[in-house]
Amino acid sequence: MLIEEYKIDGANTMRRKLTREQYRRKKKMKRLLVLSSLILLFITGVGLIGGGLSKLGKSIFHQKSRQTMQLVDGFYEKLEVEEMLLTPNEYSRPQIALNKVNGVVIHYTANPGTDAEANRNYFEGLKEGKTYSNGNYIYSSSNFIVGLKGNIVQCVPLNEIAYASNERNEDTISIEVCHPDDTGKFTKKSYKSLVKLTAWICSEYNLQKEDIIRHYDVTGKQCPKYYVEHEEEWLQFKEDVFQMIEENAKNEEKK
Ligand SMILES: [Zn+2]
Repeated sequence: MLIEEYKIDGANTMRRKLTREQYRRKKKMKRLLVLSSLILLFITGVGLIGGGLSKLGKSIFHQKSRQTMQLVDGFYEKLEVEEMLLTPNEYSRPQIALNKVNGVVIHYTANPGTDAEANRNYFEGLKEGKTYSNGNYIYSSSNFIVGLKGNIVQCVPLNEIAYASNERNEDTISIEVCHPDDTGKFTKKSYKSLVKLTAWICSEYNLQKEDIIRHYDVTGKQCPKYYVEHEEEWLQFKEDVFQMIEENAKNEEKK
């Protein structure tokens, strides 16, 4: 009886034990199943969101042709340019070849407080064919725009002309510079970037000090305003550019 009971108990215990183990295993399997489904769902979700985001990112990327590139390789001062090329169009990026570069023309945006990207977008907006109040179409752009914080945006490639410097469009590279207020004076950061960029262009195209000119020197327009009104500051700018070129040359020799 006792044995029987024991047996039964034992059997029961065994059964219970087995059942418990099976139950545990089942529970474990269930948990694993739920967990793996959750992981799968998560991965799918992340994939979908990620895919969507990257598509969105790519479309923005594509629209702006935006990329940070190091324009100068081995130049003493590292120079980074954000390429945000304009969509080819007859009003701001006519894709006319710039076959020779005999100078670099400095401008100010005449649009106080606005930054590089906003000015770039203004040029982009001209592609629809905007007109002045007199009905004439606006043709305007620049190869580069230097922003208030010294960032540099490129709108037109260096082998294409931009519409910035009138009769000198066809043989110069143009740089527009943003400025915080009506004086037209550049910020320290814009100035520093402008020196670097101009120095690089001069080295690249073998330009001399006299090849750095203002829009004013082409047409007599008060552009860049502050550096037309302050001749000594303009001369200092050209000095600073060539000092950087010399420093770079010295640095190259050391290498
Ligand atoms: Zn100008």
